[in-house]
Amino acid sequence: MARYTGPVCKLCRRENEKLFLKGERCFSPKCAMERHAYPPGQHGKMTQWRRSTTSDFGAQLRAKQKARRVYGILEKQFRRYYETALNRSGLTGFNLLQILESRLDNVIYRMGFAASRAQARQIVSHGHFIVNGYRTNTPSMLIKPGDQIVIREGSKKKPFFKDLVEIAEERNAAEWVRRDIKALSGEISRLPERSEIDANLNEQLIVEYYSR
Ligand code: SF4
Repeated sequence: MARYTGPVCKLCRRENEKLFLKGERCFSPKCAMERHAYPPGQHGKMTQWRRSTTSDFGAQLRAKQKARRVYGILEKQFRRYYETALNRSGLTGFNLLQILESRLDNVIYRMGFAASRAQARQIVSHGHFIVNGYRTNTPSMLIKPGDQIVIREGSKKKPFFKDLVEIAEERNAAEWVRRDIKALSGEISRLPERSEIDANLNEQLIVEYYSR
């Protein structure tokens, strides 16, 4: 389960946009996009103006990279998701977004059980979740409507999950998920509509990138 382990805020600065990868910090004045709103690197400040002259390929590449970074996925896996989306009926770009949204780590995040997808990924990979009666440590597991997700009984005694009951109440859950905060469990009632997925993602450009 390879994952990106480099500096996270640099990814937002590369995309010149807040990607909300760090939970609460993203809403505080400590956010790097508040303090250094220019591309990373030695010449970041000087290259900022060039971003307005992006080629078609540049725009497609940036759209794909942004989606990868938002969901925390490496290139090989992301391409696999694209191929799966291509083989499904319907719009490839929308299929791709639905696949990304149905990853277990994203579903946990959408339920409000984690502050960010990265945190969701961590608690899943530490084996704190049971899906349909089986313990899992695979953040990339794809969840279908009706699959039952619950936090392991043993894990509920840990301080993180004891506090989570209160914290999760203050977080909004997505409309397409159902959750029982007291029982720390949930499921997805359906796959999300396009309007319920990040509007800043441009799936059409991603499809164009892979169709070159
Ligand atoms: Fe991005 Fe969050 Fe870092 Fe701000 S704090 S740059 S939104 S990851």
